[in-house]
Amino acid sequence: MLEFFSKHLENAVNEIAKLPGIGKRTALRLTLHLVKADKIEVAALTTAIDNLKEHLCYCKNCFNLSDKDVCDICENPKRDHAMICVVQDIRDVIAIENTNQYTGVYHVLGGVISPMDGIGINQLRLQELFDRIDAGGVREVVLALPATVEGDTTNFYIYKNIKDKVSEITTIARGVGIGEELEYADEVTLGRSLMGRTSFESVYVKR
Ligand SMILES: [Zn+2]
Repeated sequence: MLEFFSKHLENAVNEIAKLPGIGKRTALRLTLHLVKADKIEVAALTTAIDNLKEHLCYCKNCFNLSDKDVCDICENPKRDHAMICVVQDIRDVIAIENTNQYTGVYHVLGGVISPMDGIGINQLRLQELFDRIDAGGVREVVLALPATVEGDTTNFYIYKNIKDKVSEITTIARGVGIGEELEYADEVTLGRSLMGRTSFESVYVKR
């Protein structure tokens, strides 16, 4: 246990240490950095954090993070709105956008089906995805969930529910490596696997 001689110092360290991947000692180092930093710099940080809670929301179409009701991607008329890429979370949207290879829109599920972690279909934005497809105008759904048991279970669940409604259901090439999450794939590999996506059915159903 670290000993503190200031309640304020202790509080700040404890709060920062709650962030993922940050232990008490790193939290102390960051806190002491903030103590030394000038007021304006610290104010910019606290404002940025406050704004996350005050002004950031989920896009009502795709559940990407956005500063407004509908995100920039969904609002962009140059994007192909007939192509929806289904991803686990926002980090995947960022990774795919960084490849500059994808011109469609997204649907962020918020996770994958994982009974062990208590994540069932109702915890995810699956019904919202099916509603978007039922609304019509969707030509292709690209399944870009992680290559894990949970990712595959979720892929199959989606496939079963949409196979009669969408003409093309594809999946990204698994050159990305089994178990490796999208966000860790480099842009070139991820870009290639998006370009080389294949029919979900031909790979996973009709073997
Ligand atoms: Zn959106």
